[in-house]
Amino acid sequence: MRPGLLLDRDGVLNDDTGYVGTVDRFVWRPGALDTLRRARRLGLAVAVVTNQAGIARGFYTWEAFATLTRWMMTEAARAGGPIAAVYASPYHPEGLPPWNQPSPLRKPAPGMLLAAAVDLSLDLARSVMIGDQPTDIAAARAAGVGRAIRIADQPDPLADATLLDLTGVTDDLLISL
Ligand SMILES: [Mg+2]
Repeated sequence: MRPGLLLDRDGVLNDDTGYVGTVDRFVWRPGALDTLRRARRLGLAVAVVTNQAGIARGFYTWEAFATLTRWMMTEAARAGGPIAAVYASPYHPEGLPPWNQPSPLRKPAPGMLLAAAVDLSLDLARSVMIGDQPTDIAAARAAGVGRAIRIADQPDPLADATLLDLTGVTDDLLISL
């Protein structure tokens, strides 16, 4: 069992310009690649856990998402901060079949985080989740993640820390749990 860093994608790793489904619309946010490198240096397994309602809504396909994900993982590894695994939930209640059903994989449910814990042998109590939505914090709590960090303009009292972006991430925020 090892500690992990669980990252939301849109609004955390990349600019959330709305339903980003292609490489040309994926722009790394400040501090993102530095944080991935930091996680590697600290020995944290990195998993991305991302709701992708754009698939349910028909804005892009699962295959397009997979293409973008492969590119993202290659870029991260090339930058020295590999992402071990990416989990995505394509479900949304207002989406198209077969994605228009409730799913334990859609945050705020903890399904993707729990799957990452099994696959990567993560000790969730010693792991950290970073997300930009209240649902990210809720998913972290539901999964028993030790520390939940919110990316937001205003302090989130439900989070353990709030940062404007990933440039504020320090070693202390990722370890010593
Ligand atoms: Mg987000």
